[in-house]
Amino acid sequence: MSRTRADLESECQRIEGRGYPAYKDLRGAYGFEDFTLYIDHVQGDPFAAPSKVRVRVPMEAAGFPARLLEGPTRRLALGDFVARAIRSAILVESDETSAGGRPNASDSESRRHENSRGRGRGDNARGSGKSGLIRIDSGGQEVLERTAVKIARAGDWIEARLEVGLPAAGRRVLGRQACKLLCDTLPSAALAGLRFASLDPHLVTSFVLSIENQETVREALADRGLIAFVGNGAILPRETGASDRPLGGDDVVPFASPSAFEVCIDVPNPPGADGSTRGPHQWVGMGIPKGVTLIVGGGYHGKSTLLQALERCVYPHIPGDGRETVVSDRNLVKVRAEDGRRIERVDIHCFIEDLPGARSTRTFSSDDASGSTSQAASIIEAIEAGCTGLLLDEDTCATNFMVRDARMQALVHKRYEPITPFVDRVCDLQRILDISTVLVMGGSGDYFEAADRVIMLRDYAVHDVTDEAKKIAAVNPGERQSEGKGSLESPPSRVPIAQSLDASRGHSRGGKRIKIEVRGSDAIRYGVHDLDLRGVAQLLDTSQARAVGLSMHWASEQLMKDGATLALILDELDALFDREGLGVLDPFAGREHHPGNLARPRRHEVAAAINRLRGLRIE
Ligand code: ADP
Ligand code: MG
Repeated sequence: MSRTRADLESECQRIEGRGYPAYKDLRGAYGFEDFTLYIDHVQGDPFAAPSKVRVRVPMEAAGFPARLLEGPTRRLALGDFVARAIRSAILVESDETSAGGRPNASDSESRRHENSRGRGRGDNARGSGKSGLIRIDSGGQEVLERTAVKIARAGDWIEARLEVGLPAAGRRVLGRQACKLLCDTLPSAALAGLRFASLDPHLVTSFVLSIENQETVREALADRGLIAFVGNGAILPRETGASDRPLGGDDVVPFASPSAFEVCIDVPNPPGADGSTRGPHQWVGMGIPKGVTLIVGGGYHGKSTLLQALERCVYPHIPGDGRETVVSDRNLVKVRAEDGRRIERVDIHCFIEDLPGARSTRTFSSDDASGSTSQAASIIEAIEAGCTGLLLDEDTCATNFMVRDARMQALVHKRYEPITPFVDRVCDLQRILDISTVLVMGGSGDYFEAADRVIMLRDYAVHDVTDEAKKIAAVNPGERQSEGKGSLESPPSRVPIAQSLDASRGHSRGGKRIKIEVRGSDAIRYGVHDLDLRGVAQLLDTSQARAVGLSMHWASEQLMKDGATLALILDELDALFDREGLGVLDPFAGREHHPGNLARPRRHEVAAAINRLRGLRIE
């Protein structure tokens, strides 16, 4: 059944003008001169989700030097770069054909950004629906493991997974256009990324080595007793609230570490390295040690910006992002108050006890949590999922959860206040559970005693004010009483009930009708439930959300049995992704197939989604 380009061309001609379903005949593999085109899925009509195709090139023809394929980090980075290169090629193609002529560099740069998640080709004059669209799922500022480009484990081929809108006039096949699209436009865009010779060798190499540096630093953090590193010179602020690109202009203050926190970490690749000049090189910047770190400073002086960088830099960043020398421990979890969320049998008693009506808080459930109970539950859940540190910002915390000052203690007796504020637990979190905290708190000095270090932001510059804060605390001892009752324990493990994670919307003839649909990175339609993930700050990408939904389904079908705890299920998912890759989540896995657009989520985001599902039941 080895069909060729000529076969595809004649098939396209044959179905010209026929009803749209005739496109189904194109499914299959076609051998071209030095690549293979796989048409895996054909859309049902011009308006449906686009068709899925793959372009596979033997590594020999692709020509990537062996050093770029060494080890999982380099491969991940290379795959990411290739997807971005293909996206740029798609945009240039469409600009040339629609607007006539190549756009200038800055123009294409901005389009590229707008299109970071989007389509290469908008609604156009070339047909109905998605006619003529080509796209690839390449990332934003973060570099994530994703299915868009796959490098064979044995290294003998590299493959791009694309989506394409097969062209139609109304609902009639436009065969000639389809022929050009499938035989020329799409392959040439794909090959622009899949062939080393079409790439700028310096750019691709420095990209890969930059990611490798970041991952090396991440590995080094724990040994150095650090939870995060912020390189001197890093650009932390973003362009706007809606754009994740770096802020430009003369007013930007590059990051500079206070000398007390300055550390040097060895990285394998010097700047501008091309891979042949390996040599020792050091990154210099601020190391944030384990323990309790307080970030203070006046409003609008850059506190949240620093915390957001730590939050995002659990993932590597592309060169030029400004945060490509910022590296956080991979298990730092941002937690916020999220009133209205669901909570299922979480033991929050160390934060909240003796609720009115004698409700137990050792297995606390709520369909409509308050600010403080939601924040308490999110912290306990993060611990259960294995976080090493918590990131909290006063902007998104429940005030009554964070502090209870002396005056309020005098007015409202402890007997009538169910909440043990975070300030009375933060040290035990470190001491007993080895969980660090980075906390932005500009509005209360009650954390001075608890903090191991205090960092102040003034005009976006960072200062070490630990000694001053400790002196102030000694001279004006807080009047407030410590309120922690009992000691902090690790939360008990919970065992989710598989049926409660059912993704089906009833039954149809073929069996269950599974529905898992993402709407951006913060909402999943999961079976009969709408899963609201707006409070899950570190879920960054639509394809990650899709993988989260599929992971939940996979877990309910394969992993939730024999009393498996949530933590064990998360371990098994991670092991599964390491072993088989993300494509295993594809409902059609087993046969060779475009697995859909997936990006790997952390265990914390999978846990966060499970915990927020309104149907979740715990044994
Ligand atoms: P805070 O949390 O202290 O109130 P933010 O972190 O929200 O302050 O920052 C306030 C504004 O300052 C934001 O618009 C942000 O983009 C900008 N900003 C933050 N850091 C810098 C910096 N290093 N250089 C220039 N502008 C910055
Ligand atoms: Mg702020």
